[in-house]
Formats: sequence, structure tokens, C-alpha cells
Amino acid sequence: MALRIVLLGPPGAGKGTYASRLMRRLRIPHISTGDMVREEIKAGTPLGRVLKEYSDRGELVPDDIIIGILEERLKKRDCAEGFILDGFPRTIPQAEALDKITGIDYVININVSDEIIVQRLSSRLVCKRCGAIYNRLTLKPKRDMICDICGGELYTREDDKPEVVRERLRVYKVRTKPLIEYYRRRGLLREVYCKDIKADPEVVVDEIISIVKEREL
Ligand code: AMP
Repeated sequence: MALRIVLLGPPGAGKGTYASRLMRRLRIPHISTGDMVREEIKAGTPLGRVLKEYSDRGELVPDDIIIGILEERLKKRDCAEGFILDGFPRTIPQAEALDKITGIDYVININVSDEIIVQRLSSRLVCKRCGAIYNRLTLKPKRDMICDICGGELYTREDDKPEVVRERLRVYKVRTKPLIEYYRRRGLLREVYCKDIKADPEVVVDEIISIVKEREL
């Protein structure tokens, strides 16, 4: 039975960190529209140049563009057994488009305080090569500024700068938060909480796994 999961939550909630660990444990792909946007920007394509304009300012890229990108990705063979969506949907029209493309089994809403979000984003480091996520304070790489997984160089995302973070949080509250109600009404929403910035991410990952395994019991 396919397992189709959406991770919902503000920037800095830990969606990417949890999704990459869930991918390894559940053996279904982690689909991050943010990673796809950054790859397109890195490739320097005409589309990448358009996306950069939005992304660098902390704004959402237009729905039709991101829906097109996601729809193509979901057609790939590796999605047949399910997937973990990280960063999509982010608006009501995106959620409506997703409903037309595929069914969803679980929407996991990750609850974290604004204080943890700001602390996380201001000290987040990302691998230039493989996209793995670290944190200067809580999830340090073994070697300074070097990825444990692939040896790539770590950097600070353009949109993790404080003034851009403020804009991303504002955009989240206005455009993405209404999705909580959208999925609650459909009976798909499950809540998880991250109360301690120093907590091992595996604690939340275990919780999510126990939620999605329920249906097998
Ligand atoms: P993320 O890594 O998920 O924070 O995404 C980084 C940036 O990519 C966002 O700030 C947006 O500019 C863009 N982006 C990623 N996913 C979406 C989406 N579903 N809708 C609109 N823009 C998106």
C-alpha cells in the first residue's frame, strides 16, 4: 500500500531534517520543492533565474510554476510506493491542485515555537553538494563546515538571513497556515511537537513513524 505523506510546518520546523530521515527509514522518496528550486537556480537555467527573484526575497514562487514542477516529479517511477512532501503544498490553490494529482494519506503538522524557528534558521548550515542540513549549535558536522555524508562544503542559505527569515515567517502565516484547517477538515491532519531545540530529531521521526504505521495494525 502506497504511503503518501505531507509535512506541514513553518520554515525552520525541521521538515527537511525529518523528511530525509523518514526517507531512509520508510524507503520512499523525500520530495522537497525548496531543494528543487535551489537546484534549478544553481543550474542557472532561465527558469532558475526567475525562481531566484522570489526565493532570495523569501517570497513564494507563483503557484502555476511550482505545481508544474511538482506534478512532473510525482510522475517518476520512484513515487509509486509513496513519498514524503516537504514544502509543498504552501497555498490553498496548491493543495487543491495536489488533490487532483494524487491522494494523500497523512498530513503531519510540525508545531514549534517562533523562538526555536529563529534560533534554528540563524544557525542552519546546508551542504552545497547533497543538501544535507546541519546546525552550528545543535547538529554540528564532525568536521568544521564539511558535510559528514558527502564531504561537500557547508554554507548559509541566502534566505536564512534575518531580514529574509522575517518575511518567510510572515508569508507562512498568511498563505500556508490556512492549510492546517484545510487538512483538518478532511480528517488527514496529525500533530507533532518539537519543544526543545536540543532534542534529537529521531524523537520526532519516531513519533511520525508510529503515526503512519497505525494503519498497518
Ligand atoms: P524551502 O526550502 O522549502 O524553504 O523553499 C525555499 C524557497 O523556494 C521558498 O522560500 C520559495 O521561494 C520556494 N518554494 C519552495 N516550495 C514552494 C512552494 N510550494 N510554493 C512556492 N514557493 C516555493
